[in-house]
Amino acid sequence: GDEDMDLVASPLPSISTSHSQNRWSDTTAYAAKKKLQSWFQLPNGNWELGKLLSTSGTESVISLPEGKVLKVKSESLVPANPDILDGVDDLMQLSYLNEPSVLYNLQYRYKQDMIYTKAGPVLVAINPFKKVSLYGNDYIEAYKNKSLESPHVYAITDTAIREMRRDEVNQSIIISGESGAGKTETAKIAMQYLAALGGGSGIEYEILKTNPILEAFGNAKTSRNDNSSRFGKLIEIHFSETGKISGAKIQTFLLEKSRVVQCAEGERSYHIFYQLCAGAPFALREKLDLRTANEYKYLRQSSCHSITGVDDAEQFQVVVEALDTVHVSKEDQESVFAMLAAVLWLGNVSFTVIDNENHVEPVADEDLINVAKLIGCNIEELNSTLSTRKMRVGNDNIVQKLTLPQAIDTRDALAKSIYACLFDWLVEQINKSLAVGKRRTGRSISILDIYGFESFDRNSFEQFCINYANERLQQHFNRHLFKLEQEEYIQDGIDWAKVDFEDNQDCLNLFEKKPLGLLSLLDEESTFPNGTDLTFANKLKQHLNSNSCFRGERDKAFTVSHYAGEVMYDTTGFLEKNRDLLHLDSIQLLSSSTGHLPQIFASNMLTQSNKPGVGPLHKAGGADSQKLSVATKFKGQLFQLMQRLENTTPHFIRCIKPNNFQSPGLYEQGLLLQQLRCCGVLEVVRISRSGFPTRMSHQKFARRYGFLLLESVASQDPLSVSVAILHQFNILPEMYQVGYTKLFFRTGQIGVLEDTRNRT
Ligand code: ATP
Ligand code: MG
Repeated sequence: GDEDMDLVASPLPSISTSHSQNRWSDTTAYAAKKKLQSWFQLPNGNWELGKLLSTSGTESVISLPEGKVLKVKSESLVPANPDILDGVDDLMQLSYLNEPSVLYNLQYRYKQDMIYTKAGPVLVAINPFKKVSLYGNDYIEAYKNKSLESPHVYAITDTAIREMRRDEVNQSIIISGESGAGKTETAKIAMQYLAALGGGSGIEYEILKTNPILEAFGNAKTSRNDNSSRFGKLIEIHFSETGKISGAKIQTFLLEKSRVVQCAEGERSYHIFYQLCAGAPFALREKLDLRTANEYKYLRQSSCHSITGVDDAEQFQVVVEALDTVHVSKEDQESVFAMLAAVLWLGNVSFTVIDNENHVEPVADEDLINVAKLIGCNIEELNSTLSTRKMRVGNDNIVQKLTLPQAIDTRDALAKSIYACLFDWLVEQINKSLAVGKRRTGRSISILDIYGFESFDRNSFEQFCINYANERLQQHFNRHLFKLEQEEYIQDGIDWAKVDFEDNQDCLNLFEKKPLGLLSLLDEESTFPNGTDLTFANKLKQHLNSNSCFRGERDKAFTVSHYAGEVMYDTTGFLEKNRDLLHLDSIQLLSSSTGHLPQIFASNMLTQSNKPGVGPLHKAGGADSQKLSVATKFKGQLFQLMQRLENTTPHFIRCIKPNNFQSPGLYEQGLLLQQLRCCGVLEVVRISRSGFPTRMSHQKFARRYGFLLLESVASQDPLSVSVAILHQFNILPEMYQVGYTKLFFRTGQIGVLEDTRNRT
C-alpha cells in the first residue's frame, strides 16, 4: 500500500547499489537468451518476479505472472536466483545478492515459520508474532548434539559455548533491532539454551527467574510493543571450569523513569503497578490501602489498564515466586510493594492555593496520609517537602514557597526517584543472589538486549541517548565485521581485495568531541543556572553547523545524520532531564523515614552525588543534590560496556519486525528493507562471501588437529604440520589461505576437522 511506497522512497543510508549483482548490466542479452528470471519493481516499491523475454540493450521485454507482458528499461531489472536456491538458510549461498532476492528469500522461509536465517556470521530473526514450534527440550537436545543445524538462536548460542571452551575467550551475544522486533524474547531463548547446557548447580533457575522480575519492573505497553523494555540490559553468565553455570551479573542502562508519572494515550506505566493492583492478596491490599488501577491518577491518565491476553493478577503471582527464587525476603518484598503503593498515592496528591501569590499546599486528605504512612515519614515533613524549598543564600537559610507547577514537579520528581531507586535496588538484590562464587574461572557469555535505533515524529532526550548508544554499537559491529577483519587479512599478508563499508566515526565525533560536541555542550548548558533548552539549541547551531552530521532546525530543534537515517530532535526538556535533580529536601524526607528501603534510597542518592573523582554537575545554592549529568553517566556506562564487549568474541543477532501491527503472517517488504539496510545485512554477506571468517594460528591448528594425522610429518614445525593436515583432509586450495601467523578459512571448512576430532 501507500505505506510501503513512503518507506521505500524515504531517504535511507547510502549503500552501494552499483554492485554488479544489483543489475544485469552487460549480461542482459545473455539473460534474455536464456529466459532467466528477473526482479521488476512495481510503482508501489514492491518487487515482482518475471521472466526476461528479449532485450534491445536499454529496453527489455519481461513477462510477469498472470500473463502480463511489459516493455521496461533494462536498468530497472535486477537478476533473480534460480529456483533451486529458494529459501537457502544462509544468504551467502545466493548466486545473486541483491535486495529483492534477499527479501524474497527471507519471506520464502518466513511463510514456513523458518524465522531464522544466517547472513554470513550474523543471525537474522524475523518476529513471527505467534507461537512457533522451534523451542523446548527436543530442539535444545538436537542443537546440542548437532542433529539439527539450521539457523537458530540455539545454534548461535551453541557456537558461543563452544568457542568459549575452545579459545578460552569470553563471548558476547549482541541482540539488536527496533522496538517490538523480538530482542527480549530472543535473549530469553538464548538464556534457556545456556541454562539447559550449563545447568546443574541450580543457579540456572534463578537466572531464568530474573526475567519476569525485570520485565514486571522495567517493561510496559507502548504503541509499538505490548511488552516493551524501557531499559537496556547486559547479563553476564559465568561458567566454572567444568562448564557449569556458576553465577551471573546483570547491568541495566537508562531506565525511562518519566513513564512513572506520565505516559501517552493507549500506553501503560510499568507492568508491576497493574499487577500489584490486580493481584495483591487481601491482607496486602488492606495494609497498603490498595485500590484498582483506575483509581490512581498516574495509571488512569492514559486510559489503558489492561493488555489483551495478559492476566495481571496471575502475573503478580509469577513475580512473587520469582522474587522468592532470587532470595528477596518476604519482608523486603512487602517493602517493595509499599514503595510502589507510595508512588501511586503520591500521584493522587492534589494541591490547593493558600495565598494570593499562587503558592500551594498539598490537600491533607487520604492520599497524603497514605503517602506518609507508606514512606514511613512525618506528615508535616511530607507537606513541607511538597510545598516549599529550603535554600541557602549566603549564610542564611530561607524557605521558598512553591507555586502549583513547581509543587507538581517536586511531587513527580520524588515519585520518579523512588521508582528508579527501587529498580536499581532490585537489580542489586538479584546480583547478590546470583553472585559468582569463588569457583569463578573468569569465562563468561554476555547477552546484550538494548533498545534499538528510534526515530519518531517527535524525538526527545531519551531518543537522543538511545540513538547515541546505537551509534556506538554500530561501530562495534562495523569494527568487528568489516574493519578488524580486513585489517587482519592485510596484516597477515593474504590476497585480499578491500570492501568498503559505511564508517560512522563522524557521527560519534559529533556526540563525543570535547569541548564542542553534543554531549559536552549539553553538560555545559546544564550547569548554567540560566541555561534553557533554547540557549542550548542556539549554542549547538552556533558551534556545530559546520559539522556534516549536524543541521540546525527552526526553533529549538536540530537534526543528526545517524548511520540509520536522519533524526530531528526537539530540545524541549533536554536540560531538565539531563540534570535530573532531586531537591535535597526530598532526599532528607526519605532519610528521615522509619522504613529501611527509603533510607537506602536516600543514602544511595547522596553517595551517587559524591562519587570520588568525578566533578559535580550542578550546585545550585546547595539546595539540590550534586550529581553527574544523566548523559555523562550514560556515556560512562556505554564506554565501560564497549570495553567489556571488546574483550569478547561477539555473535550478532539482528531482530526484524515484519509489520507494525504485532500481527502474524504480515510481511511488509518496505519495512523489512529499511531494517535490513539499517543494519548493513547485505554488506555483511558480501564481505563474508569473499572473506575468510574462520582463522587459527599455525601453532593452535597443529596442536588441535595434529593428532589426526595418519602419517608422520618430517618437520615438526607448526606450519608443516598444518599443511599436512589440510592435505590429508582434502581441503581445497581456494577454501583457505596461509598467512604469516595464521590460517584463514572460508566458512564451513573447519567443520569436518572438528567433527573428526570430537569423534576421536
Ligand atoms: P522493545 O525494544 O520494545 O523491548 P523487543 O525487541 O524486546 O522490543 P520483544 O518484546 O522481544 O521485542 O517482542 C515483542 C513481541 O513479539 C513479544 O511479546 C512476542 O509476542 C513476539 N515475539 C518476539 N519473538 C518471538 C518468538 N521468537 N516467538 C514468538 N513470538 C515472538
Ligand atoms: Mg525488549
